[in-house]
Amino acid sequence: TVRTRFAPSPTGFLHIGGARTALFSWAYARKHAGQFVLRIEDTDVARSTPEAVQAILDGMNWLGLSWDEGPFYQMQRMERYKEVIQKLLDEGSAYYCYCSREDLDAMREQQMQEGKKPRYDGRWRPEPGKVLPAVPADVPPVVRFKNPLTGNVVWDDLVKGQISISNEELDDLIIARADGTPTYNFCVVVDDWEMGITQVIRGDDHVNNTPRQINLLQALGASIPQYAHLSMILGDDGQKLSKRHGAVSVMQYHEEGYLPEAVLNYLARLGWSHGDDEIFSMDQFCEWFGLDHVTPSAAKFNTEKLNWLNAHYIKQADLQRLAVDIAERLTIAGVAVDGGVDLQAVIALYRDRANTLNQLASSIAYFYQMPQVDAAALEKHVTPEILPVMQALFDELKTLDWTQEALHAAIESAVTSHGLKFPKVAMPLRVMLTGGAQSPSIDAVMALLGKEVGLARMQAVLQ
Ligand code: GLU
Repeated sequence: TVRTRFAPSPTGFLHIGGARTALFSWAYARKHAGQFVLRIEDTDVARSTPEAVQAILDGMNWLGLSWDEGPFYQMQRMERYKEVIQKLLDEGSAYYCYCSREDLDAMREQQMQEGKKPRYDGRWRPEPGKVLPAVPADVPPVVRFKNPLTGNVVWDDLVKGQISISNEELDDLIIARADGTPTYNFCVVVDDWEMGITQVIRGDDHVNNTPRQINLLQALGASIPQYAHLSMILGDDGQKLSKRHGAVSVMQYHEEGYLPEAVLNYLARLGWSHGDDEIFSMDQFCEWFGLDHVTPSAAKFNTEKLNWLNAHYIKQADLQRLAVDIAERLTIAGVAVDGGVDLQAVIALYRDRANTLNQLASSIAYFYQMPQVDAAALEKHVTPEILPVMQALFDELKTLDWTQEALHAAIESAVTSHGLKFPKVAMPLRVMLTGGAQSPSIDAVMALLGKEVGLARMQAVLQ
């Protein structure tokens, strides 16, 4: 059965590129009714933090990328790695190397002088008939893997096609440091082997590790998984995606008011396509997904497209769910919604106009607190000539039930009786009631805002 994994290093938040890798691994497993494993690669103790682990789990949970096994933590598997290192030593597939820092520097220096690419020269590599140097007393040894000397490592990358690397390019990898701790590539290999991973889907920054990992797997007698190396994600300017381009952390998208389904849908299309389909559910995606339609070229991050998708999902979302979310955002902003105008009704009126939930929240805050009136809009629309018309309308509105129909009729009649165009009356109303010059249909806004609040706001400007 298919088993994929996502193997983040917890040195920071879950970023957009990592989330896309996770999504593709998750979708591949779901498509093939397999399992998706989460593995935390926390062996870089200097850079790994529990906060980063939590941030990654939060990001995965928010996106709904649920794992079938794990999270496994490499730091908890140290004993196992050491056992496997011992096994390789016992079998003669690995050996102790007693080169000191100085030896390696000298080796490097000489190779550079000879115009060669620096690489470990194999001086401690045991070979039949070869006499090894005398073991120095004061150098704790590292363990090196006996990489094959000849031949090529070849694999059919599921994204990049066939890749072939000559073993002459690879030197004998250190698999255990002098203090006995296993190195990064080694842990990955043991885990992919023992976790039964069948497809390794990861960023193409790891493509250089793959031939080394394949050789190690071979030495362990493990079956070789398929590999799929995903291209990088670039900013819209073609540079490597970074903070300059906006949010790179998945949870920052949450904070800015993106819905997880919009982010997922967006990420799914980042380097993968299914004809012209742009909007689809994750169920649909998992059914369609295949690595054959993942492009090997770099994908460009496009915030406008993400906004477009987010706007779409905001329009579709369950109103109650949106209300819970928006209430939280408003509360954080210091706006109390409890006991005020029905939030779901307000959202229903406004949601077609927002790219993000933060925009939506800030555009409706005036329902729950006195808006700050935009001075320029006030000057532009509430002109001295229109004031008498507004005053008369105000008097009329006092006598009405504030239903949308009644309000509409009242505004229409003010417009026609003074021979004006509709916006001449609607715009000043907007400014008085909402604080600005933009809103949905003003009669709908007024009906929701209610007579008491509406009249008070009008009066505050008219006096
Ligand atoms: N831990 C690696 C990273 O975060 C991924 C390793 C892998 O997928 O093989 O870049």
